[in-house]
Amino acid sequence: MRSLLELSREYQITKLTTRCEERLLQKQSSVELVVLAQEFSLKRLLEKCLASLGRMNIQDLKNCPGFDNIEADNLVCLLNNHLRWLKEQHAREIRQLREQSLKEKARILEIANELNSCWGYNKLPIRGCACASYTKSCDNCNTVLEKYVKTKCGELIEALQQNL
Ligand SMILES: [Zn+2]
Repeated sequence: MRSLLELSREYQITKLTTRCEERLLQKQSSVELVVLAQEFSLKRLLEKCLASLGRMNIQDLKNCPGFDNIEADNLVCLLNNHLRWLKEQHAREIRQLREQSLKEKARILEIANELNSCWGYNKLPIRGCACASYTKSCDNCNTVLEKYVKTKCGELIEALQQNL
């Protein structure tokens, strides 16, 4: 490919250069391709490579042969792309954390609401006594209420502990 590019540069065969660039655009981006694109002024290839290499670990890139041959301007462009990618990743992580935190909060709120509304509204799972809804003076009702509150508090504590 390099010799073809040299040939087309020497004889100024623009069409051949374009053809070569199109071929190279199909290849996976690499430091090697950046250096080649620089040398033969293949702008589209250069842009594509700098964009996708920006999503790589910089230390890994530094270890690629030819990295030191990347021209200063292109290195700046690569690092800018990398920075933008890091920012996007960071924003995504924050969004996920916020969603997760909202879900946990909703679960806790749900349990607290259940506890808050269990009194006297027939929400207790009362069996084995004649009461239609929670009755203060009934021992059976009070036993059920105590059990219910304990269970819900257990759920609440568990949900809160998950957030620690
Ligand atoms: Zn009862």
